Amino acid sequence: MDTGGAFDLAVIGAGPGGYVAAIRAAQLGMKVALIEQESRLGGTCLNVGCIPSKALLESSELFQRSANGLQEHGIVAARTELDLGRMMARKDQVVRQLTEGIALLMKKNRVKVVNGRGALAGEGRVGVVRNGQAQEIRAKHIVLAAGSLPAEIPSLPFDGHYVLSSTETLSLNKVPDHLVVVGAGAVGLELGSVWRRLGAKVTVVEMLPHVVPFADRQVAKALERSLIRQGLELRLGCQVQGAEVREDRLHLTVAGRDEQPEALECDKVLVAVGRRPATQRLGLQESRVRLDRTGRIEVDGAFRTGVPGVYAIGDLIRGPMLAHKAEEEGIAVAETLSGRSGHVNYETIPSIVYTAPELAQVGLTEEEAKAQGLPCRTGRCYFKANGRARCLGEDEGMVKLVSHAETDRLLGVHIVGPRASELIAEAVLALEFHASSEDLARTTHAHPTLSEALKEAALAVDRRSIHG
Ligand code: FAD
Repeated sequence: MDTGGAFDLAVIGAGPGGYVAAIRAAQLGMKVALIEQESRLGGTCLNVGCIPSKALLESSELFQRSANGLQEHGIVAARTELDLGRMMARKDQVVRQLTEGIALLMKKNRVKVVNGRGALAGEGRVGVVRNGQAQEIRAKHIVLAAGSLPAEIPSLPFDGHYVLSSTETLSLNKVPDHLVVVGAGAVGLELGSVWRRLGAKVTVVEMLPHVVPFADRQVAKALERSLIRQGLELRLGCQVQGAEVREDRLHLTVAGRDEQPEALECDKVLVAVGRRPATQRLGLQESRVRLDRTGRIEVDGAFRTGVPGVYAIGDLIRGPMLAHKAEEEGIAVAETLSGRSGHVNYETIPSIVYTAPELAQVGLTEEEAKAQGLPCRTGRCYFKANGRARCLGEDEGMVKLVSHAETDRLLGVHIVGPRASELIAEAVLALEFHASSEDLARTTHAHPTLSEALKEAALAVDRRSIHG
């Protein structure tokens, strides 16, 4: 079956990369088709990623606060009980509302949504299969935005019952007795925190000697201490060597380098060691689309794959696997295709871990700056010295600034603390505008706010903080 007229652009995958590219292209006057294999739009992010995880993080934090954290405010609640079914239903409702919102946006922007699995089918053509029925979409340009899937490890293949990916861990119908999390990155620590707050024993096994591999060491160490205080057990520098199911329990063998293997018994294990690009069954090989050494689609600065008319964005290509990175690429590719100069500044993409306290960063860590031979200075402000953090009762953590020792240009900002995910926006803007630490230090920040910690950290670069 043929859909009729040709499109200016066909996008495969309706995650934050794909649907944003579709909207921007439509705004710029293109006739756009958006092909999605799932019944709901929004991709990993809205359905099984960013949104459901944040909904559960919010609910579980409220649960924990009302069980243990309100007394210091002079509030004595009679009894806090968990209704997990309702918590999950709320999460599902948040997801449903947002994905339905994306469908409305497609209508508003006159983007044609085609439900089915898409694959390249020759120059300017995409084959789409749904329930055994095939159709063909013709388009001048094709953007691949098929995203990514959870990565497996050979010693722990997913089985959906004992060995879980993030997707199943977002929808458990019972709090596990003991959840082992393999991988101390954002996904592992966030979902580990959710189930710890809801009552599970949680053990995090990480191959590296620290949590959050991409983070500034000092800031990651501060988060590590907070997580331990919350009762998460961390086995750093360790790997899972084997797994066996006996009497409905999973028996893991875990060992650090030069250490005796240790047995860990649990009822569930979450494998959160990263994600792999969803490059299969997209017709890449037949179309001669090249992959790079890491298995991602190789693109140039304008997202061109090397095959005329075929582009790729988001988790499919190099760079951090983040929704906002995919969105920026979606906008940039649409603008480039319409003759504008689409651009993504990869140096100012923030990364966030939504634990409590949150960890957020943008730019270079102190370690990275030094490794690049850049002379740098740092300034810190601890939230204990921040009035608003004290009022909130959330005063763990710090802001750390890294600036160039000669030019004072900001190189990186690292925050572990309350609302770090929101505070980092100021730092992103500062880096985007090539600000110096002096610029931040001379900017008036309202009092009492958490953002004052950024100003204080900037003052501390020059050893003149007022409250530190
Ligand atoms: P995706 O969102 O993966 O979308 C790809 C879409 O393509 C999917 O809908 C898929 O069904 C569809 N598709 C694939 N193949 C085909 C085909 N052949 N035909 C038709 N359709 C196809 N990122 C953040 O920035 N912040 C967060 O807080 C965050 N939290 C996360 C939490 C979890 C638990 C997980 C798993 C991820 C999280 N991420 C987060 C990462 C984020 O979800 C991804 O980086 C982002 O969704 C990537 O966007 P994308 O458009 O490239 O691909």
